[in-house]
Amino acid sequence: METVIGIDLGTTNSCVAVVEGGQPTVIANRGGYKTTPSMLAITEAGKRLVGHIAKRQAVTNAEHTVFAAKRLIGRKWDSQQVQNAVTNCPYGIVPGPHEDARIQLRGKVYSVPEVSAMILQEMKMIAEDYLGHAVEKAVITVPAYFNDNQRQATKDAGKIAGLDVIRIINEPTAAALAYGFGKSVDKTVAVYDLGGGTFDISILEISGTGVFKVISTAGDTFLGGEDFDLRIIQWLVDSFREEHDIDLREDRMALQRLKDAAEKAKCELSAVDQSEVNLPFIISNARNEALHLQRVLARSQLEDLTRDLVDRTVHTCEQTLEEAGLEKSEIEEVILVGGMTRMPSVQRAVADFFEREPSKGVHPDEVVALGAAIQGMALTRDTSDMILLDVTPHTLGIMVVGGYFEELIPANTTVPTSSSKVFTTVRENQTAVKILVMQGESHRAEENELLGEFILTGLRKAPAGQVEVEVTFEINADGIVSVHAKDLETGQQQSITVTATSGLTVDEIKNMVSEAKDFAVARRQSDEAESATQEAEKLIAQIEQLFPEVEQVVAGSDFGRDAIEKARGVVDKARLLLEAGDVEELSEQIDALARTQRMFKGVVGKVG
Ligand code: AMP
Repeated sequence: METVIGIDLGTTNSCVAVVEGGQPTVIANRGGYKTTPSMLAITEAGKRLVGHIAKRQAVTNAEHTVFAAKRLIGRKWDSQQVQNAVTNCPYGIVPGPHEDARIQLRGKVYSVPEVSAMILQEMKMIAEDYLGHAVEKAVITVPAYFNDNQRQATKDAGKIAGLDVIRIINEPTAAALAYGFGKSVDKTVAVYDLGGGTFDISILEISGTGVFKVISTAGDTFLGGEDFDLRIIQWLVDSFREEHDIDLREDRMALQRLKDAAEKAKCELSAVDQSEVNLPFIISNARNEALHLQRVLARSQLEDLTRDLVDRTVHTCEQTLEEAGLEKSEIEEVILVGGMTRMPSVQRAVADFFEREPSKGVHPDEVVALGAAIQGMALTRDTSDMILLDVTPHTLGIMVVGGYFEELIPANTTVPTSSSKVFTTVRENQTAVKILVMQGESHRAEENELLGEFILTGLRKAPAGQVEVEVTFEINADGIVSVHAKDLETGQQQSITVTATSGLTVDEIKNMVSEAKDFAVARRQSDEAESATQEAEKLIAQIEQLFPEVEQVVAGSDFGRDAIEKARGVVDKARLLLEAGDVEELSEQIDALARTQRMFKGVVGKVG
């Protein structure tokens, strides 16, 4: 059976898991960490860094280090959220060719799915290193409240990373899967998921040993830990401006240091009452004097600064309960997911709202990836009796005359689902109809997200209202929308693709897939080169250390002299290969070095 990995592609951190021997397990990266920062950097030398290594150099390479790319994925350049990111991010965000936002690093422009693909590729490699074989299939999670554009873009990212994304599932649903896996429970649960960039709340019914049915879901794809950090940054920037009349936001390196310090203080304040922010030499003034920033932030202050953000999540909980048609008392378990749920005021707000203490049984950082791996296993195993019924978070509809939004599939409908509508021509001899497909909850079409538009052509010339075309809108199990049309008179099908307004073209994806493949090969080669170099250097050092002793032991014997000369030759050749960077030959020479080292040890050990 083919291995399927589950990837939680987070705003702040990503996590990969697999089911082995029936047990879901999170895979640690090379550094031993179970989560990897969702960060990408390009160094001055053009080297790509992902994860902890990118995070470590972020302050000194702020303009070329990307974090929180997930906040930009599938969004349009002119959206408020992208414009906020442009102001707050030290790295460059520029308009793309398809109304999308792109990221500029060292003069090269990357699409957001491409950046996410680099993070996914890293997660794929972490899994491959652990499993010892290549992995192709994956289940990737997205916030439940992601719309079609964001889901498509995430799927594209998977494709670019060389993954066959067999399913996209919602993060809170994945968390519920991991929570209920292997248990026999009949419960209505609420999953409150506050991560680095997004907030989701889902209400599910878990029944028997594997039926997971989402009843309702809601959220905010621009509300998460990043916003809490921004409040602290704003507070620091304001107080510094008051004191020195200098805006720290204008200095990219200072901004990156502020971001790190703000996040650190926020996390510390989950455990202690006060945290000191200490940033020496943050900037220089007009007289070229170095200025320092030193402030103490109390937990109560942080709670004041972020109260409205927490309140927003509670308000969304209220809404989703109402949509589920449930009373608070009917929720039997509350599961907390996402790093931000470690913040005491968040935990308090959730407990107060649901009038019960949240469950402590799941790990907030790992549970989503575990759920994705479980779903991967269920999808590839014929015998699985697990059933997952999720819902579409947004209403799907079209724009009709007068700029109104006509609903076709309401929010919280179980997916996969479809809905058909018959269109007629409105003008004499009309041969084409233009249809705008949208997602959202407003009755004004312009306030909703445009997913794409298509034009039905080739209609028969006839008086107005006489030509009928049936258009079917479908949402698949990934939550992704597609559209088909049928001429009711002739029965002829028209195949239509909704071109995502902020996605990538097929050709662009093709090029990116091949670039990513090249990178993976190069990266594996450079890993091999690195380990061969390290191994050779280690053996050379050990042999060099043994030379004097061996010389002493074999002094006077012809055999000994020959052996020593031969050993010297082996070491010298390895040194030359190291200098030349000839990895292939070096790998072969490592055998000779190892034999020499063993022989030397034997000689010394025999006598000693
Ligand atoms: P996630 O997307 O689930 O990895 O969540 C990441 C977010 O959780 C980031 O904004 C982190 O700063 C935040 N976070 C992690 N640990 C803590 C903590 N102990 N207290 C408060 N926030 C935290």
